Amino acid sequence: IGDTADYDREVKSVCPFCGVGCQVSLKIKDDKVKFVEGINGPANEGRLCVKGRFGFDYIHHDHRLTKPLIRRDDAPAKGLNVDPGNWGDVFREATWDEALDFAAKGMNDLGGTKVAGFGSAKCTNEEAYLFQKMIRQGFGHNNVDHCTRLCHASSVAALMENVGSGAVTATFNEIENADVAIVIGANPIENHPVAATYFKQFAKRGGKLIVMDPRGQALKRFSTHMLQFRPGADVSMLNAIMHVIVEEKLYDQQYIEAYTENWEAEKAHLRDFSPEKMEGICGIPAEELRAVARTFAGAKAGMIFWGMGVSQHIHGTDNSRCLISLALMTGQVGRPGAGLHPLRGQNNVQGASDAGLIPMFLPDYQPVSDDGVRTAFQEVWKDDGVDPNNGLTVTEILDAVHAGDIESMYILGENPAMSDPDVEHARDALAKLKHLVVQDIFITETANYADVILPASAFAEKTGTVTNTNRQVQMGRPAVAPPGDAKEDWWIEVELAKRLGLGWTYTHPRDVFAEMTLLMPSLDNITWDRLEDENAVTYPSLSPTDPGQSIVFADGFPRQDGRAKFTPANVIAPDDVPDVDYPMILTTGRQLEHWHTGSMTRRSKVLDAVEPEANCSLHPSTLRKLDVEPGGLLRLTTKRGSIQIMARADRAVAPDMVFLPFAYVEAAANILTNPAVDPYGKIPEFKFSAVRVEKADET
Ligand code: SF4
Repeated sequence: IGDTADYDREVKSVCPFCGVGCQVSLKIKDDKVKFVEGINGPANEGRLCVKGRFGFDYIHHDHRLTKPLIRRDDAPAKGLNVDPGNWGDVFREATWDEALDFAAKGMNDLGGTKVAGFGSAKCTNEEAYLFQKMIRQGFGHNNVDHCTRLCHASSVAALMENVGSGAVTATFNEIENADVAIVIGANPIENHPVAATYFKQFAKRGGKLIVMDPRGQALKRFSTHMLQFRPGADVSMLNAIMHVIVEEKLYDQQYIEAYTENWEAEKAHLRDFSPEKMEGICGIPAEELRAVARTFAGAKAGMIFWGMGVSQHIHGTDNSRCLISLALMTGQVGRPGAGLHPLRGQNNVQGASDAGLIPMFLPDYQPVSDDGVRTAFQEVWKDDGVDPNNGLTVTEILDAVHAGDIESMYILGENPAMSDPDVEHARDALAKLKHLVVQDIFITETANYADVILPASAFAEKTGTVTNTNRQVQMGRPAVAPPGDAKEDWWIEVELAKRLGLGWTYTHPRDVFAEMTLLMPSLDNITWDRLEDENAVTYPSLSPTDPGQSIVFADGFPRQDGRAKFTPANVIAPDDVPDVDYPMILTTGRQLEHWHTGSMTRRSKVLDAVEPEANCSLHPSTLRKLDVEPGGLLRLTTKRGSIQIMARADRAVAPDMVFLPFAYVEAAANILTNPAVDPYGKIPEFKFSAVRVEKADET
């Protein structure tokens, strides 16, 4: 990293990793980012975690793509066989004109529903908007999706259904005004580290922190209650807590009458879920469930935070329905220190979803099936072909490739060859495509299968806005030039669209943002110039000078009659339950130092030095039974496949569980995971697979 006192200039931007959205100052020397400091953004107030502080040097890595590449005629068969630092046997360099013509021709030749797109939650709002517009306008359908399908799609499905909006009702900073907070299915100290600092401060000043997670975690030390429930038993535990609130009449009758519907059905449904009945299912003693119910219902102001431990289940939507019901029955929405907050994962997954990278919704969650919505878009887009039918989701698109219905894909900044469940199925689909356009900054595992690769920009090289978990739209600024001939993603999209005959004339992301404001009410009163001046504006912003509303729904909800809805949830078993052959439970997730599929953080010196090797964690007693020392090798096998991986001992992991990070290609977690999906959010069950764990032969 070198001497941090020495730099030529600084540029303010936003951290490219998690959804917290910390603002950073990039210190530049000799046109390279030399180091990074936190600045006073609304979500971080100067703080950064290890990724934001040290995980920037991947942008100068010698694997960066500097020229467009086209697959050689004599390249070996498509597969995971490309060395990202030495790709000459597989690809040849091309000019931008040749590569863009080639990319567009392949898509045009196959055309229509034969083409689908995966956009990216790592790109800017403007780039996400352009991507969905290109697929919709260029090919006449809605087969466009992105990684929200793999993280919070079920949370959004439940929030849209019951609250009428997919975003958080209160910023995480509102915990400062709460006296009780629940954190469930999230591990913020590892995955949202700066948000976790606010949670720790809350606990230190006497706030009651209730942590619920099948895996123990560092936040446990700050908790008043730690409910380490059985994996997949969320609904039984949450319904039992709500049963107590009903039984002991701890609910907020006035709030329920004023702002909700379907309460009587919810109340009747909860009768069957007494803690005494549910403790055997969820593994939490009835008295503890009762104590938690009384604590949350007794809060003056309570917040509920959740993560992918809630969403990545075949009952993920039901899990979120329970959390929404819990907040509604206690009146914990729409006030300072009260609210629902799904902690968003990627830096711009909120913004990419808002911008319409979803197969059922145009920007701002406006249904493609609504005639009035389509008319409004068609007028602005000067195109009468917006398809009224919902498109296919991430996993459905790859199934359609296998079925021969989709033959061409445009993948921007996503890595399904690592991130999708049952990843060999995804890799086989990518290999089967007749034409694959990949736009990225490295030859990712997905780019291994590309016919043409378009070299794009890292966050520190581009202009554009991103929206964090708090609904804060923030300005990202270019600090250094992209390497070689690499270009900003929006430029590549515009050039490709021109070749698809779309006649786009955007000359700057500001033009795209201006168009978005015409179609997205969430951006009312937010302009490019404001963001340039203020760096961040929270939506909704009620006037040109309002910094934005950190709390929403004080006076009702954006649903019919302004009422939120109770939707009762039943207990549904996970899809792939343990049996004699696969007796343990596999759950996957992230580690503090590595980001998602590892393409950036494993090329960051500091982060890779701290976590250089694929590993999984098991309880020490389980390792003893397997006769494996920490550091020894294990074989993990599920119905989908098998990997070998180094074992770690971790008392936080229950004795019948394995925790497996998914950043490591050499032991790819998603070879093992189950592709079964939640019926509403269509999100795969990454958090639960039956697995066999054996000592591996180290020779
Ligand atoms: Fe970046 Fe998230 Fe860490 Fe903040 S908490 S520095 S946004 S990774």
